Amino acid sequence: MSTPRILDGKALAAAVLDECRAETDALTNQGITPGLAVVLVGEDPASKVYVANKVRTCGELGFHSRKIELKAKTTQEELLQVVRELNADSAIHGILVQSPPPKHIDEEAIIRAIDPRKDVDGFHPENVAKLVLEDPSGFVPCTPAGCMKLLESAGISTNGAEAVIIGRSMIVGKPMALLLVSKKSNATVTIAHSRSKDLPAICRRADILVAAVGRPEMVKADWVKPGAVVIDVGINRVEDASKKSGYRLTGDVAYQEVAPLCSAITPVPGGVGPMTIAMLMKNTLQAARQLSSM
Ligand code: NAD
Repeated sequence: MSTPRILDGKALAAAVLDECRAETDALTNQGITPGLAVVLVGEDPASKVYVANKVRTCGELGFHSRKIELKAKTTQEELLQVVRELNADSAIHGILVQSPPPKHIDEEAIIRAIDPRKDVDGFHPENVAKLVLEDPSGFVPCTPAGCMKLLESAGISTNGAEAVIIGRSMIVGKPMALLLVSKKSNATVTIAHSRSKDLPAICRRADILVAAVGRPEMVKADWVKPGAVVIDVGINRVEDASKKSGYRLTGDVAYQEVAPLCSAITPVPGGVGPMTIAMLMKNTLQAARQLSSM
């Protein structure tokens, strides 16, 4: 048992946003104001908080931002029309439709309708292909990009490391696996998921363990190899009568019992979460740069 290094996403995100601010100033001086449009369909409370944070951060950096709030009963065609208008709008460099939309919306079709050059979430098939091809002109999904930045800035080498990712979503698990296995990172990667057999044994192999599941405190101490680096992507609301809100946020890792075993670990909140927004801002700057050099 030792004291792990706490990977402070809040501090690192602030440093990334400082860099973004400097780059925004430089672009604005050239007559380009980075613009991000955030579309929210419906009333999901967590989505509302995420969207408000994104729009607030745009304001702090001097971006142009547009928040488009649509009723939960918005049709697929109406939403597609909003996306088409944003695609054609030269003041907008990044377009994001907050996930998850209401159930009657075909999210996949909406993502495909976004101009891939403005797809700052990195979910469009063209950007997924660029990630596979390791083409830096593509947009890397913000959460895994933030996880990689946390590892890099802490000087944690992924070279030859055994990495295990729990979760195979297109938002976190799969892109995280691609980043770790890339020629830049050189990890040996295992993706575990809901059908994996003997998950604790798979996790115990990991030098770097990434949990992206959505199950509060699922990863226990006996799942973790001593000295491992643990990245906890999970954000779960659990009831807590002692809190004013009635809930507290917890990750997918049982932090109290796991942390003493690790060489480094991300807290929840204050780990991966703040990095996601910072990387979104970086992606929007990349879009603004790339679109204005065309
Ligand atoms: P998802 O529901 O799309 O995917 C969850 C994955 O976990 C699936 O691939 C599934 O196979 C796997 N899984 C489910 N139950 C499992 C089990 N018992 N054992 C092993 N694997 C299991 O979720 P997601 O969008 O990838 O998000 C995962 C978590 O990360 C959620 O808590 C979400 O809130 C959080 N998240 C955080 C950020 C952030 O900014 N920090 C961003 C995105 C998602």
